[in-house]
Amino acid sequence: MSFAFFIPDKVFATDIVILEQNISDSEKVKLNKWLSYGVEAVTETLGELPQDKIEIELVDKRSTGEPVPFGQVIRGSPVKVKLQLNAYATFPEFVDDWTLYHELSHLYIPYLDYPSFWLNEGFATYMQYVVMLNSDTINAELFVNRVSNGLVRGEQRTKQSPGQLAEVSDDMWRKRAFKRVYWTGAAFFIEVDNLLITQGQSMVKVIAAYTECCLTAESTGIKLMQDFDQIADTGVFTDTYKKYYMRTDFPVITQAQIKLVSRYYAND
Ligand SMILES: [Zn+2]
Repeated sequence: MSFAFFIPDKVFATDIVILEQNISDSEKVKLNKWLSYGVEAVTETLGELPQDKIEIELVDKRSTGEPVPFGQVIRGSPVKVKLQLNAYATFPEFVDDWTLYHELSHLYIPYLDYPSFWLNEGFATYMQYVVMLNSDTINAELFVNRVSNGLVRGEQRTKQSPGQLAEVSDDMWRKRAFKRVYWTGAAFFIEVDNLLITQGQSMVKVIAAYTECCLTAESTGIKLMQDFDQIADTGVFTDTYKKYYMRTDFPVITQAQIKLVSRYYAND
């Protein structure tokens, strides 16, 4: 295993630091190109990164099949995004992997209380595909397919991870309830974004205003909903939150709802 530590110079005025030399020069070029692509796709969709500086740490795991099998945000100073990757993967394979978009999307909302973790993970899970669509990494048809498939996996996992959403979120790691938590949260944001778009607003517009005025490192789910409602001059966040946090079932999201957001975020 080797560590490589990259900072896309396009975004961060810091030198690239290689912690351990086990990655070839052509791989470094490929990885930096990919990180720059990911940061650009996310910032074009969600606005400038809210943090003055972030660090991206790459951990090479060549034995793995997937390009980026694991990612996490480490909340410190500066905030760090840590990604495990298979450095053999090609540039198009890296670009098609959702992990980088997901982890960077986490940086636009606060770290919430554990029972509200479904909001943190739902936001990043929804935004990973919104970013890929908005940046033409995937088209509207692929967006609808990937989101629909994710929702099916979330629904299947709900039977194995029963209980109220807030309780299951609070104990997500021990219960291995990731798919239920991530995709119920994504369903929440699809539902809310449908309501916002019909009111001339959108999740992305709310985030742009929120990161300007109100983003804090930590918050609670209910406080975040109140902040979002105030920004959007609506009640849809708190109203929908109340429908979701105690629920034991998986929400029904229609193809029409997924298609509405796909049309909104597609560039053509
Ligand atoms: Zn996440």
